[in-house]
Amino acid sequence: MSDDTSTTIPKTQKAVYFEKPNAPLEYKDVPVPEPKPTELLVNVLYTGVCATDTHVWSGSFGEVKAHIGGHEGAGKVVKVGSNVKGWKVGDYAGIKWLNGSCMNCEYCEQGAEPNCQEADLSGFTHNGSFQQYATCDAVQAAKIPKDVDLAKVAPILCAGVTVYKALKTADLLAGQWVCISGAAGGLGSLAIQYATAMGYRVIAIDGGADKGEYVKKLGAEVYIDFTTEKDIVEAVKKATNGGPHGVLNVSVSEAAINQSVEYIRPLGKVVLVGLPANAKVIAPVFSSVLKSIQIRGSYVGNRKDTQEALDFFLRGKVECPIKIAGLSEVSKVFDLMHAGKIMGRYVLDTSK
Ligand code: NAD
Ligand code: ZN
Ligand code: ZN
Repeated sequence: MSDDTSTTIPKTQKAVYFEKPNAPLEYKDVPVPEPKPTELLVNVLYTGVCATDTHVWSGSFGEVKAHIGGHEGAGKVVKVGSNVKGWKVGDYAGIKWLNGSCMNCEYCEQGAEPNCQEADLSGFTHNGSFQQYATCDAVQAAKIPKDVDLAKVAPILCAGVTVYKALKTADLLAGQWVCISGAAGGLGSLAIQYATAMGYRVIAIDGGADKGEYVKKLGAEVYIDFTTEKDIVEAVKKATNGGPHGVLNVSVSEAAINQSVEYIRPLGKVVLVGLPANAKVIAPVFSSVLKSIQIRGSYVGNRKDTQEALDFFLRGKVECPIKIAGLSEVSKVFDLMHAGKIMGRYVLDTSK
């Protein structure tokens, strides 16, 4: 274990801070945190902006304990807690939504760490990656090989892991149809590529002609524009000859989720990923029974899902379509996201 660069760690740093939900997002100087014995201190160089960050800030996830958001952080380890094994100063590390879990409960025991009731969450219960130096549990930190472009890998740490795990949850076979609803966004743009790499046929739903061109470039065979298509359920069924075998709901739309339980193919699996506030899934009982469909929730991924999702990226099977802004510009990125104007993912450079 080495602590040799700790002298170069500053006492204060830039962060995007909010006092409570909906309070102004302040770009300001805050103290550099001290890692616990089980934690790493990571110099975050780039961090993605996930729609979850906007939900946390707007209060739709309930009480927020953290004052600094962000959970797609990629950077370099600058300090290693005294009880940490397997990490050294200079390693590349990723900060995920799941920052730590108890490792003792029935969920942790079976590798379902995101479902741990004591999970510590970056940007929600634990100050996240919208700062230049962030602490993270050494067990949950993602190992990133050296020489990887840290800006491009950042979105894998939430969006990538989440959609990869959601595709595993859909439990499809190569050659089957998967519908990605919300396909041009941060999660969707990666979901199309993972699905294609896993051998599935992709039908994509989003809004606008530009997003249609975009998702087709990423690998979607069919595009349905929800802003112009009058009967989405029929259009999806027609294009897939009876409905997709699986659906990943990665939009923030209750209406889109409720359409998906209608157009899913008999025996198909509807996967819930997007988190519209207070939304409910309304599934017609009669057709759900006769079609024998399944509705499954999917929540980020565990350490193994993370390594597998990273592996697709490292082998060049999946690219992160990113645009770069400065950390000081978080509010602008949130506004663009609310307006549905982002294709792919915004990644913030923490030096600006
Ligand atoms: P995003 O804003 O980048 O993407 C959402 C996309 O949905 C946009 O392209 C938008 O145009 C599209 N959309 C809006 N209405 C639609 C409709 N009616 N039909 C089809 N598409 C529509 O957001 P993101 O960062 O990709 O996150 C998406 C959601 O996933 C958020 O709710 C986020 O909180 C959630 N999320 C869940 C998990 C999890 O573990 N379950 C993990 C990460 C993010
Ligand atoms: Zn996220
Ligand atoms: Zn646990």
